[in-house]
Amino acid sequence: MKDQHMNEMPLMKEEEGIVLFYPNIPSNAVEEVTQVLHSRWIGQGPKVAQFEKEFEVRFCEQNTALAVGSGTDALHLAYILAGVEAGDEVIVPVFTCTATNIPFLCMGAKIVFADVDPETLNISVEHVRRLITKKTKAIVCVHYAGLPCDMDELKEIAKEANIALIDDAAHALGATYKGGKIGEITDFTMFSFQAIKHITTGDGGMLTIKNPELVEKAKRIRWFGIDRSAKQMGNWENDIREVGYKYQMNDIAAALGIAALAEFDQTLNHRKSLFAEYEKHLVGVDGIKLIGTGVKDREHAAWLCTVIVNRRQELMSKLRAFNIESSQVHYRNDRYTIFGGRRSDLPNMGAVEDKYLVLPLHGKMTIENVAYICKVIKDGW
Ligand SMILES: *Cc1c(COP(=O)(O)O)cnc(C)c1O
Repeated sequence: MKDQHMNEMPLMKEEEGIVLFYPNIPSNAVEEVTQVLHSRWIGQGPKVAQFEKEFEVRFCEQNTALAVGSGTDALHLAYILAGVEAGDEVIVPVFTCTATNIPFLCMGAKIVFADVDPETLNISVEHVRRLITKKTKAIVCVHYAGLPCDMDELKEIAKEANIALIDDAAHALGATYKGGKIGEITDFTMFSFQAIKHITTGDGGMLTIKNPELVEKAKRIRWFGIDRSAKQMGNWENDIREVGYKYQMNDIAAALGIAALAEFDQTLNHRKSLFAEYEKHLVGVDGIKLIGTGVKDREHAAWLCTVIVNRRQELMSKLRAFNIESSQVHYRNDRYTIFGGRRSDLPNMGAVEDKYLVLPLHGKMTIENVAYICKVIKDGW
């Protein structure tokens, strides 16, 4: 094993092997942040406003973008703006980051988990349809790995029930659906700039809002319920009528976001080329199913490369022996006690829960790294 290991190694340049994730620090990050550190504003100031404007131009011209402290903040804010209250039912994906669903627990909403679509691991539209009741207040979907969900169908269901549709696009910055940008399709779209996402601000997030009438309220709730601009102008009436929280982004983080936006097209293209290389080697191979491939009407943002395999643990061990990291990344949320225990009505999730595996995909990788990983996999485990 050791000899084989050594023979296979030369393609990898990095001593640490091929890691699963690597933060994307843009080339002019230090310059941008330094400028902020030498300025009068380090909290929410002009850089946050600039980041929001530039983000809108690139991702959501039809919506308003509000920068916040994390993707989780953006979701919590969206759920409040959607009018979700204690006791309301919300239909949510079972297969996602816990951050998608934990804000609902803080709000006392009743979580109704929807199953995955076995082809994409995105939310099953057919299951969502069956879960709608008179008490349903919102639907949340996650574009798993960066592949957009079935948005036409989800929008139609939400419209018919007259409820909000919120998309968690933490994986999907730069993705498109039938030519439309993820970021301006639903009532509320959330993006995350946590350490390992396409763009990072250390921690940070963006909420895009379709209804212009909600924007001022959103800004107040982002900051304790206070009209911040009125306060800065000195004409704030000195009362708080809505419960807000402290969700805002600061200028240090925004400077990183601005630096990353300037390079975003290269970032996305690089990730897409790595995903395409995985497709080239793994599509059609016996015993491996690549998730999110072969879809023509939507564009993948290539955040994760996920495969479905038998004997997952053995494959992980083999990859580890070749110094290649792999992981599940997300787990079905109903396994966590806080969500009330495992549901029995999620057969598609049950069928894949011991089989899905995420392979390395990040900006420090080369096409050759992907080819190498695929070779190791195809040699068997
Ligand atoms: C990263 C992530 C989040 C949370 O975003 P934070 O910025 O870490 O709060 C939410 N949902 C999904 C699907 C994520 O991957």
